[in-house]
Amino acid sequence: MSAQANSARYLLPVVAQGLEPIAIASASGRTVTDVDGKNYLDCFAGISVVNAGHNHPRILAAARAQMDRLVHCASCVYHVPVVGELAQKIAGIFPTPTNGGDAKSFFSNSGAEANEGAMRLAKQHTGRREIVALAYGFHGRTIGTLSITGNMARKKNNGPYLPGVAFGPAPYCYRCPLGLAYPSCGVACAQDLHNVVRAQTSGDVAAFVVEPILGEGGIVTPPAEYLSIAASIMHEHGALLIVDEVQTGFGRTGKMFGVEHSANVRVDIMTMAKGIAAGFPLGAFTARDEIAGALKPGDHLSTFGGNPIACAAALANIAVIEEERLAENATLRGADLLARCKAVQEKSPFIGDVRGRGLMIGLELVRDKKTKEPAPAEAKAVRAAMRERGILVGVGGIFGNVVRLQPPLSITTAECDQAMTALEQTIRNLH
Ligand code: PMP
Repeated sequence: MSAQANSARYLLPVVAQGLEPIAIASASGRTVTDVDGKNYLDCFAGISVVNAGHNHPRILAAARAQMDRLVHCASCVYHVPVVGELAQKIAGIFPTPTNGGDAKSFFSNSGAEANEGAMRLAKQHTGRREIVALAYGFHGRTIGTLSITGNMARKKNNGPYLPGVAFGPAPYCYRCPLGLAYPSCGVACAQDLHNVVRAQTSGDVAAFVVEPILGEGGIVTPPAEYLSIAASIMHEHGALLIVDEVQTGFGRTGKMFGVEHSANVRVDIMTMAKGIAAGFPLGAFTARDEIAGALKPGDHLSTFGGNPIACAAALANIAVIEEERLAENATLRGADLLARCKAVQEKSPFIGDVRGRGLMIGLELVRDKKTKEPAPAEAKAVRAAMRERGILVGVGGIFGNVVRLQPPLSITTAECDQAMTALEQTIRNLH
């Protein structure tokens, strides 16, 4: 039976019916190859996961060597050298000006699980119970993380959700929920968090959970000062800052973590997954030392969390990101792609907005630039036409109308040219 027929017959429709109509056999670097031998330039990187490129030889070698020694023994029951080594490495790159490398990590299997643990730690440390998150944010698909997700499409048919969650306005300049324009707005969406706490909570806020760029929300990219202002307001209210770096982490935005684009932000807890281990399933949350001890032995564990193979892959992955200067490449190639996408926007009636940082770029498609009516069907058509031309891109956004360019961070100028030529032709053919 073909891969497509097997999926349709035996996978839940929730997965099977949303799959792209190609079956992937192998991948290397930025190239993905289907079962018929057709190559694609991957500009989605397995949803922003393989930042160092597919099957990077050094990462595979580290994973293989670890697999030969030890696959699993439960890192929550025994000490495993590679797990501690990874935690030490993450403490060294944890983005807080005051920490001096003193941060502690918990390893999980996914981004959702990392966010669950982070919220639990924040509650236990502060003794408070409420959470503030953002409209259009996305944090996972467990009940807890859907409760702090501000996106009806992701939450539907599964409520009611946990009480004690309030949502701040999305920092979405193209569709400002406050009807203002940057920069004359004075970043009012951040200032509004005061009202959110005062009007929608009982003042018992344990944490403010925020993505530096709202990935699933449509690569919604706040002004860099947004996070500085929002974090200081929420700190004033006694909440911890949980930065969800699941999608923005590990060089994606041109710095190791997305929060590093904003000045003077005290990160209390950071959550990671996706780009942490180049495709091996791993999540993590890392907290400043004085917070990390609030969870006591037995309070929180995960059988597979801190799998030795995934941790070995993560260590090699971070080394590759640093040594191959992939964040710098993301800045350079990203600036070039962004400028070229903006040039396409000027000539096309369908592209309302182009935004992003580094190699996290979104093109928001609209039916009419004046009314900004979302164009989700057109976004899907662009993805399909790009695929036909041998380029894989993503689609997302609160209205499903944002074309996402999130390639491996090792993408070359020639590959960027290839992607842009296809995109220019595709957009020109839209009608
Ligand atoms: N947080 C963010 C910002 C994400 O983008 C995602 C996944 N798209 C998650 C959390 C959930 O991660 P996972 O699918 O690994 O649970």
